[in-house]
This record gives sequence, structure tokens and C-alpha cells, in this order.
Amino acid sequence: MKFIIPNLVCKIKGYELHKFKLNNGKIFPLIYVKKPKKPIVAFKKMYGILIDDLFFKLNNEEQQSAVWHEIYHTKSTTGIKLFFWLPLKKMFIKRWKQYNLNQLEEFDADRHALIKTDLNSVLGLLNKLSGFERKGLIKSNLKNHPSIKDRILNIKSFHN
Ligand SMILES: [Zn+2]
Repeated sequence: MKFIIPNLVCKIKGYELHKFKLNNGKIFPLIYVKKPKKPIVAFKKMYGILIDDLFFKLNNEEQQSAVWHEIYHTKSTTGIKLFFWLPLKKMFIKRWKQYNLNQLEEFDADRHALIKTDLNSVLGLLNKLSGFERKGLIKSNLKNHPSIKDRILNIKSFHN
């Protein structure tokens, strides 16, 4: 069932379906874009999760973290989260006040990845992203993403 739309998108757009094995043994469809206009790594679209060559520069653990992060974004509860849960959190937790709701959603997605993998996997991913950024391969959109540095601090804070 979950393969129908990604399959269709691949057929229409000429992308390639990549069957990714999650660490729970389930197969998850990823849409591989060979020559994206903008670099992707892993990115959630309406019709599925896109990846490009940068995704394959991650090791398996980092890929797991990246995919679980994106899966969090695909959850249907996102609407409720954005309108109810995240505004409450922002109101009551001091260190969240400086962030907008989209940025808070990113922290939550990282936390979800942490729960589904482990600290090394998520930090490995964030460090690689940070390296990609230094090399100019990617650029975080700071309007809806916290900086990678803040995301690293956030993930570490769960282990203090
Ligand atoms: Zn995200």
C-alpha cells in the first residue's frame, strides 16, 4: 500500500524507487532523485521521502536516523502538533521561546530519530550534515530549521 504513490511518482518523474530497510526490519520506500535542482540528503514531500546522492554518503546508522526523522514529519498528527502541542511547549519551556513552530518540529523529529536509533547515530548524522554545510554542499533554511549546532545541543540535552 505505502509503495503505490512513491512508485507512481517515480514512473511519472523518472525517479528511482529505493527500498530502504529500517532497523525494525520493515521496508520503507524512498524516492531517489539523481540530479535534484537543490541538494536533498533526505526530505519529506507530500508524496514521499526524497533522497539524493548525499544520502548515500551517510553510513547505515546515519541513514536510519535521517529516515526516522523524515518519517516523523510524515505523521498525520503534525497538524495537531503545530496548532496545539508545540504552541503550548513554546509558552511554557523557556529555551523553546526563541524558536518558531517549524523549528520546534525539527527538534521533535530529531528526538523521534533518537528514540528509534541511538545517540551516536543521530549525532553522526548531524555532524555529517554540518560537514556538508561547511563544504557548501547543503544550506540549512534557517526560517524553518534550527541551525545544526542547535540541533546537536538539543539532542545532547536529552542525555544530561
Ligand atoms: Zn526535518
